This record gives sequence, C-alpha cells and structure tokens, in this order.
Amino acid sequence: MKPVLIVGGGISGITAAVEIAEVGEEVILIEKESYLGGNVVKMNNYFPKLCPPACGLEINFRRIKQNPRIKIHVLTELAALTGEKGNFKATLRSSPQFVKNTCTACGKCVEVCPEVRPDDFNYGFADTKAIYLPHDMAFPLKYTIDEQYCKKDSCNKCLEACKYDAINLSAKEEEREVDVSSVILATGWKNYPAELLDNLYYKEFKNVVTNVEFERLLAPSGPGKGKLYRPSDKKEPKDIVFVQCAGSRDENHLSYCSAVCCSASLKHALTVLERYPDIKIKIFYIDLRVSGRNEDFLNKVEEHRNIELIKGKVAKIEELTESKNLVVEAENTIISKKIRSETDLVVLATGIVPNTLAIEVNKNKHGFLTDEQKDGIYAVACGKKPMDVSASLKDATAAALKAIQTIH
Ligand SMILES: Cc1cc2nc3c(=O)[nH]c(=O)nc-3n(C[C@H](O)[C@H](O)[C@H](O)COP(=O)(O)OP(=O)(O)OC[C@H]3O[C@@H](n4cnc5c(N)ncnc54)[C@H](O)[C@@H]3O)c2cc1C
Repeated sequence: MKPVLIVGGGISGITAAVEIAEVGEEVILIEKESYLGGNVVKMNNYFPKLCPPACGLEINFRRIKQNPRIKIHVLTELAALTGEKGNFKATLRSSPQFVKNTCTACGKCVEVCPEVRPDDFNYGFADTKAIYLPHDMAFPLKYTIDEQYCKKDSCNKCLEACKYDAINLSAKEEEREVDVSSVILATGWKNYPAELLDNLYYKEFKNVVTNVEFERLLAPSGPGKGKLYRPSDKKEPKDIVFVQCAGSRDENHLSYCSAVCCSASLKHALTVLERYPDIKIKIFYIDLRVSGRNEDFLNKVEEHRNIELIKGKVAKIEELTESKNLVVEAENTIISKKIRSETDLVVLATGIVPNTLAIEVNKNKHGFLTDEQKDGIYAVACGKKPMDVSASLKDATAAALKAIQTIH
C-alpha cells in the first residue's frame, strides 16, 4: 500500500498524520522548518481553554514517536508532483540540517559556538548561536546549523565538542522521489507583512509589534522568559493598545476577515491582565467578530474595568521622540469623536495570508487553496481560509478519512 503524503507539519498536518497512521496506513509528513508544530507551537497559549501549546502538541508528538508508520522529513518541501489519485510520484527537496540523528541535544556544541544569529522563532527579539535548538519543545529534538552564520571548516568548534559524531558540515541539499497514494496540503498561514501598512509604522517604531510577536513576548519560553516588556527599553508596559483589522477587511490590503484576530486580541488582553492586573488596555475595532466558545472572552473583556473597547479604525500612529511612547489616532464612531491615545505599546492584529507551494494548485483570488484540487489532493485548514485550531483539526480529520479511502 502506498503512503499518504502530508505537506505541512502544523497542528493540521500532525492531526491528519496520526489519524491515518493509527488506522494502520503509512504516512510521509514533510515540514519546511526544522521542527513540527507550525504557528501553534509559537503561541503563549491558545483559546478556547487558554492552555499552553504543549497541551495538545505534546500528546501528538508522543503518538508520532510511538508510530513507526509515520516518516517525518523536516526542512523539506514538495518540489514536484506528477501522476494521479492512487498513484502519485512526489519529489521531496530537503535542505541540509548539518546535524545527524545521533544528536542527543546535550548542548555542548552551543557552548563552544562563537557565532550568533537572530532567533527567527522569537522574531528577532533574541539571538541564538549559529548551531541552535529552534525552541524548548522542538520536535524532532535535534540541533540545526544556520548555514548563513556558521563559519564551517574555518571554525569546526562544534565538531570537536560533539562526542556523538552528530555534526556533518558538508551535508548537501537532497532530492528524493516517493510514490504516494494521495496528498494532503496542510501548509497553513503566515502573518500579513505589517510593514505594508504604512500608516501604522511597524518597521519604524520599535514599540509597534504584531500579534504573533506579542505571543512570543508573553511566552515563558520567549525573549523575556515570560516577563512582558516593550522592545524599545525592555520595560514592562503600563498600557497597551490593540489595533484590530491591521490589514484585514481593507480593500488596499486584505479584503477578507482573518477570522481569528479578534479572539486572539481578546485572549491577549485577558492573559496580560491575569499576570499584570494594573495594565490598562484599549482595543480599537471595526466589529468584534467572535463566535461559539470565544463569546465568553468577549463577555469577560466587556466587563473588565481595565479594558476599554473603542469602535473605530485606527488612522495613524505617531511616536514621541524621547519616551518612544506611541500616540494612536482614531475616530470613535459611536460618539463621532476623533481621539488620540498615548500608550507604551501597540499590538497590531495583523491578518492571515496563506503559505505558498512550489507545485501547481488551485487557488482563490486571495491565494488560499480551494477545495477543487486534482483528485487525490486534499487542501485543509488555514491553507484554505483563516480558521481556529478546533476547525482546523476537524478539517484535517475529514481529509485524513478521504486519503484513507484513496488507499483502498
Ligand atoms: C495571533 C494569532 C493567534 C491565534 N491564536 C489562536 C488560539 O489561541 N486558538 C486557536 O484555536 N487558534 C488561534 N489562531 C489560529 C491558529 O494559529 C490556526 O488555526 C492554526 O495555526 C492552524 O494550523 P495549521 O496546521 O493549519 O497551520 P500552521 O500552524 O500555519 O502550520 C502549517 C505548517 O506548514 C508548514 N509549511 C508551509 N508551507 C510549506 C511547504 N511548502 N512545505 C512544507 N511545509 C510547509 C509551515 O512551516 C507550518 O509548520 C491564532 C492565529 C493568530 C494569527
């Protein structure tokens, strides 16, 4: 029986993989990063239960470890796909990790590595060495070398420090062909580039951050080790402004609603106030779009004395030269009054855009995958449209069932 190929190792791809493997079928799961977990693993916590990403991901990682039917290839993308339902040939292209499976993650290599690089997992708010573990929960638990920063043969310090012969500095890109019965595209989303919102000065003003960066600023494994700070002076903010629909529902940027940003900001506000009860929060919104269990958040936020909800789209942000505080300008449309609000930190609720693939696929006008793919190819979850984890899991499980039917 031919395996099912799953492209994307976020929560959707992982879910499809365990569902298929646990009914006895083979799976090849490929992921372009060096670790599984996608966007969820970068979060501080996730709604509706506000549990950390470990809850949900850890159990799935265990299910993967225990199941020899799942073959994982990280740092790998789908370079080409030919054939048809039941009989596809996929070309997988893997970038070198420079670290072999004998790595025990003892960390001796990191101690001796002299080179540093910006920590992309923490959006550049921290640094790592050129050889690094992407994050505490990294699965597979294995170091990676960033070729751009490693001095390789002219250094070799990690090679000398590694007792397990786990480093191979001459590793090269590899291509392999696999025969698969069907393909699940679980490629997910990335943040809309906030620098394109020129009235919000994301690149220019250090204390304007995006919602995904804010997840890391809150996270115990983040740059502040759980101590929230604002980037300009690393001080705890006394007040925070959330700017909803930063890019979304805007004909000049994304004309669609990104679906999860309202719930994400409500989650952020409540998380902040649980830890820092004196911080004052303002949320500027067009409409607050939350549904189902997340309506509880809205009720809690509406009742919270430290949170002010202001109906109005933010027109611009200014920075005060000395304090690096920000002034947010908007019109409160309920009372038809222009307001200017000074704050320590601004969080942009930046919208969601789809990740891309190197193969030909059917997309809608926004670049999201459609349900109408070639027979035997199933697009799922946030690669198709913005949705939360719960909806993503249902979609991934449905695709898993279709893929299992293709095998038989
Ligand atoms: C700020 C913010 C906060 C959020 N908070 C919550 C929350 O609290 N609760 C909740 O339910 N939802 C939340 N969401 C939504 C949640 O992030 C998504 O539902 C979830 O990430 C969907 O998982 P996924 O696996 O479909 O996609 P992703 O998490 O995006 O995973 C996709 C994976 O595919 C990989 N990939 C992409 N392209 C390729 C390729 N070509 N080849 C190989 N691999 C590839 C990526 O590297 C990634 O690992 C939030 C969203 C935002 C923006």
